[in-house]
Amino acid sequence: MTKHIFITGGVVSSLGKGLTSAAIGMILERRGLTISMQKLDPYINVDPGTMSPFQHGEVYVTNDGAETDLDLGHYERFTHATLTKASNFTSGKIYSHVIAKERKGDYLGRTVQVIPHITDAIKEAIYEGVASAEKESKKTVDVALTEIGGTVGDIESLPFLEAVRQFALEKPRGDVLFVHLTLLPYLRASGEMKMKPTQQSVGKLREIGIQPDILICRTERAMTREMAQKISLFCNVRPEAVIEERDVEFSIYQVPTDLVAAGLDELLVDRLVLSKEPKTELDDWRAMLEDIRTTKDSCEIAVVGKYTELHDAYKSIYESLSHAGIANRCKVNVRKVRAEDVLTSGLTLLDGVDGILVPGGFGERGLEGKILAIRHARETGLPFFGICLGMQCAVIEYGRNVLGLEGAHTYEHSPHTPHPVICLMPDQKNLHEKGGTMRLGSFPCRIDRGTLAHRLYGAETIHERHRHRFEFNNAYRALFQNSHMKLSGLNPERDLVEIVELPEHPFFVGVQFHPEFQSGPLRAHPVFRGFVAAALAHAKNGGRGRVGALEHA
Ligand code: GLN
Repeated sequence: MTKHIFITGGVVSSLGKGLTSAAIGMILERRGLTISMQKLDPYINVDPGTMSPFQHGEVYVTNDGAETDLDLGHYERFTHATLTKASNFTSGKIYSHVIAKERKGDYLGRTVQVIPHITDAIKEAIYEGVASAEKESKKTVDVALTEIGGTVGDIESLPFLEAVRQFALEKPRGDVLFVHLTLLPYLRASGEMKMKPTQQSVGKLREIGIQPDILICRTERAMTREMAQKISLFCNVRPEAVIEERDVEFSIYQVPTDLVAAGLDELLVDRLVLSKEPKTELDDWRAMLEDIRTTKDSCEIAVVGKYTELHDAYKSIYESLSHAGIANRCKVNVRKVRAEDVLTSGLTLLDGVDGILVPGGFGERGLEGKILAIRHARETGLPFFGICLGMQCAVIEYGRNVLGLEGAHTYEHSPHTPHPVICLMPDQKNLHEKGGTMRLGSFPCRIDRGTLAHRLYGAETIHERHRHRFEFNNAYRALFQNSHMKLSGLNPERDLVEIVELPEHPFFVGVQFHPEFQSGPLRAHPVFRGFVAAALAHAKNGGRGRVGALEHA
């Protein structure tokens, strides 16, 4: 029988609830348990696909092509949970489902209400999350974790909290656990940590009928035993279940080991009466942390993008770079460069970097700046990695400046260009809607032997996740193939160009897909790993131009 953990958050947003949920998932996995992970988001958008990265951060894409909240990225980086379309539900998705049923007459004339119809739909979504993970992975889920977005006390999250309260009521005692994450703010003026916001947040939860079993307290400083006792008394949570989660010193990957040090693993298996292993196996993880803490080498990568102001907008890319740093035993410093500034302030913005990464994106702003940065990388031998729009920009740059295709552009921004080197597929030409018209999810890619891509992946067929509308224009294939640019990876089903590279360059790779969604701290993505290896070689060479043939990690 699957047991359930619900994770809520209080006091303020941005407490790191996604990270903490992922860490809890990982701790359970390392006790030999199979888990599933799910996020319920109270906002009205049906999915985050149409939301601006400036507001909401990146859109995370699952294998089955769901556009989801970025917390799902944490889940995949920390755990082996199988994520699907049923791993992320929003109020919008729940309501549209209920309203569609109402229109079909499925409610047989009854008044459709938040309780029970919306709450029933939420409970179904929770079961669906488990069922779809079990179907995909062909494994029985021991523990299903469900994180509830938003902050307790918000109007929007009420139906979700009500639904999980009912959910627990319908289950045998001991099968459902409530974990609440709160903040103990430190007040400099009085020199103490404050418990009142935690009390009030737990009070709100109890008003709804949810008594948290475990409190995880985010703190800047150590929480004393006395404080834990006091929180316990006021919040009606046993003292040993008041867990400290202190700000990490050097890496977010410390969270699981810190929580284990605070006794959370024992508490979880104790409360849910389960465990397949006698202890939480964290040796490899600890060794990885020690590597991060002690590395001496470093390199600097410029991420030249549109959404550089908000760290969350390229979350998975920054994380993948740090994973590649772990694999290469170096620290990767990221310089965030606004693409449009490269045009106005010039290439000096890129002075001293060891590599340039141009991420994916939408919209025309900054496009020419990206193209300029890519030209610089190509001409000076600086390692370059282009992802999705970044790859498309590399194709445009090469078309314009090497193949002499004057005005070469992408159809996305310049429908009248004489050389649409990036275009729509014929079957996409009539698409006018924005939502749901993209190539989404995992697709196979066949890699040519003898290419850099082949050396990096060490495989001929790979699977990578996509999220884009536009493609390399096959009408230009021969022209590029006969030049120095190699089209080293193709989608076998639809004959689409997936990877481009320049063999005579130390490292110049563009990929149409999003490799950043398949990287983890203990399994760095091969292309990121190779890119950082090249950047490190560049750094070790005193930051001078061409490093020559590289032995990629
Ligand atoms: N805007 C481009 C397209 O739709 C690239 C998308 C992306 O980088 N994710 O094809």
